[in-house]
Amino acid sequence: FAINMEQFQLNEELGKGNYGTVKKVLHKPTKVAMAMKEIRLELDDAKLNAIIMELDILHRAVAPEIVEFYGAFFIESCVYYCMEYMDAGSLDKLHGAGVPEDVLGRIAGSMVRGLKFLKDELQIIHRDVKPTNVLVNKKGEIKLCDFGVSGQLEKSLAKTNIGCQSYMAPERIKGESQNNLGTYTVSSDVWSLGLSMIEIGLGQYPYPPETYSNVFAQLTAIVHGDPPELPEEKYSEEARDWVRQCLAKKPEDRASYADLLDHPFLKRDRARKDVDMVGWVRIALEHRAKLAEVAQA
Ligand code: ATP
Ligand code: MG
Repeated sequence: FAINMEQFQLNEELGKGNYGTVKKVLHKPTKVAMAMKEIRLELDDAKLNAIIMELDILHRAVAPEIVEFYGAFFIESCVYYCMEYMDAGSLDKLHGAGVPEDVLGRIAGSMVRGLKFLKDELQIIHRDVKPTNVLVNKKGEIKLCDFGVSGQLEKSLAKTNIGCQSYMAPERIKGESQNNLGTYTVSSDVWSLGLSMIEIGLGQYPYPPETYSNVFAQLTAIVHGDPPELPEEKYSEEARDWVRQCLAKKPEDRASYADLLDHPFLKRDRARKDVDMVGWVRIALEHRAKLAEVAQA
């Protein structure tokens, strides 16, 4: 069945990205709360139709680590995309000063399983792995969203704005500057995964704008500098080594998803029965609410 705008009650805004706005909505016929993303594109109807058709494969992306897709439609020059509402939002606003190691292990495990599922079952490379695209709910589940399934959509969202936080692997940064678009492989996602782990563990993006006078200096550090590491005081050698396996500068030296799942850090994570993800989400949300209050005052 197809969804359309008349079926929705629009509620509060959940966030804004470079390409659109995400709102909480109620799907009235089913009474299901959803998240609806609006992407404005200056395209003709044929191209918009092609995007809606390409997005259809998302109906097959059903896994515990993937945000569920409910459907998409377009009105005038906007694509509307409906997905599972994740009631604790994205990881970028939940990590505080850095998450404890057991929680980092759970997040890492979920992300790897999600990425491996996309690749093995659907032959999809994510292409935009970063904390804002990792969503959390109060049940303590961690799920991925915003992976690249539509060639037409990717082309239309001209990635001119890389922003001040790049999760792009060194070979992609180099490739872009050489206008070489054929360099994206699954190992580029592994780099972005490692960088996301560092941000969540450190509590901040590891190439902070304060340190680099401009985006060029920052990208140069990613390409030519040593990769960042998890802090020694806070994390075990196993955790630190796991992240190191993701952040090898040469793509061919990075671990595969199977290697990452087989690593002692994630083996230990799977053996543990006592990681309190629900408790962690509750505390992280309280912390986020306090920060919001301070920002308001
Ligand atoms: P970019 O535009 O660079 O991809 P982004 O991922 O932050 O950045 P969006 O994908 O437009 O941009 O999402 C905006 C914000 O909306 C996210 O940061 C997230 O906090 C929130 N959000 C997105 N999808 C959901 C969802 N399904 N449930 C709850 N919150 C969501
Ligand atoms: Mg996103």
